[in-house]
Amino acid sequence: MEERKGQRLVLFPVPLQGHINPMLELAHLLYSRGFSITIIQSDYNSINPSKYPDFTFHSIFCGLCKSDFEDLSTLLMLLNTRTVEEPFRECLAKLLRDSSESEEPIACLISDALYYFTQSVASSLQLPRFALRTGGSSSTLAYAAFPSLKEKGYLPTPGSQFHLEEAVLELPPLRVKDLPLTNSNPDKFYEVICSFINEVMASSGLIFNSIEELESPALEKLRQQLSIPIFPIGPLHKYFPSESASSDSLVAPDETCISWLDRQEPNSVVYVSFGSLATIAETELSEIAWGLANSEHLFLWVVRDGMINGSEWLGFLPSGFIESLGGRGHIVKWAPQLQVLAHPAVGAFWTHSGWNSTMESICEGVPMICMPRLVDQMVNARYVSHVWKIGFLLEKGLERREIEKTIRKLMEWNEGKEIRERSTILKEKAKLCLRQGGSSYRSLEALVTRIISTRD
Ligand code: UDP
Repeated sequence: MEERKGQRLVLFPVPLQGHINPMLELAHLLYSRGFSITIIQSDYNSINPSKYPDFTFHSIFCGLCKSDFEDLSTLLMLLNTRTVEEPFRECLAKLLRDSSESEEPIACLISDALYYFTQSVASSLQLPRFALRTGGSSSTLAYAAFPSLKEKGYLPTPGSQFHLEEAVLELPPLRVKDLPLTNSNPDKFYEVICSFINEVMASSGLIFNSIEELESPALEKLRQQLSIPIFPIGPLHKYFPSESASSDSLVAPDETCISWLDRQEPNSVVYVSFGSLATIAETELSEIAWGLANSEHLFLWVVRDGMINGSEWLGFLPSGFIESLGGRGHIVKWAPQLQVLAHPAVGAFWTHSGWNSTMESICEGVPMICMPRLVDQMVNARYVSHVWKIGFLLEKGLERREIEKTIRKLMEWNEGKEIRERSTILKEKAKLCLRQGGSSYRSLEALVTRIISTRD
């Protein structure tokens, strides 16, 4: 822990699990580098302040409710309306007024890149803003290319000229079907993405929970295109031991996972989790369940409350499924994922390819089966399967025989063994970058220097 720097940072996370975790991890990291931390947060999906006594919290009323989280494009728009902007501006302005009389001036705002409205608020208050992008750099590069992709007809508009399998020549190795899009409201989504990129370009710097060696081509291009300093300082969750729990679960994790894993052989379990948001149709669930059962491998499966549209927890399971398992499966509502992935019994991760899950799996050397559903997950899955070659992409949709074959390929076949070996090598790289002189270590140094000098 470094000496206090006498400077305070204000952080503002988007109230989604995959955005709260990296922002909290960044808060811990910058606190350990001597900065004091204030977190402004929405009153919905809020972090429990009593778990983080080192930080000061301010909750603002944003008027969000559960149904706002059903459609991503609409949610992202809502997060950038006056309903959020006004209480945020008021809160930040008050913090700045109070800090002018204190011995700890506010050095900057660090807000989620998707809270693009915060750039103009910060500028109007003469406060520098850094953006934290909780997704990867390769998907961000694809977002930055949206206007030109639209112009060239790659985005699926009524006039779209391209077939899903076609290569996007500007963004290798992406195909049209790997582009980071949503299933609904494409026009709204396009608008949100363009605004987030434009406002990032007006910021003092962009922080990534990524690693230079992992995404260097995308990072290089972003540096050229955005013309702002870029700081890949990940993997954020690896700066501190996992017991110190720098991330926050909005749902209590079911600890029975760990005792169940303790009873299994090394590399024998497929961990199945589709993150905090993805929903699944009941027919798909049935295919997943039978694919898992027919593979005859052990599995630990996270089925969130509300993950299956309109169904009670476990009420969806096909009849005869549980009986067919003979104890080979364990199902929970929420897992302590970092601990699960670090457990020696876990031999594969069947994931929706959210960026946090992808980074967490890379850091533990766990090979992946990718089932992307939307947005940046498509890009992440393509990189896992075709660039880093540390997993398989379920290309042919959710079908029980395909699932069974893919699990067997990863757990039993030579191809799977090669993927496992590459995953172990990448895990080592992810470790080295945090050591003194490593790429993320140096990038963090540069970020700290930049924050300190930014108001001079
Ligand atoms: N997570 C967890 N337990 C679970 C499922 C997910 O702790 O049972 C955490 C996971 O470790 C990750 C986050 O939730 O940090 C999900 O983020 P990600 O970017 O992978 O996906 P999203 O939920 O944003 O789609």
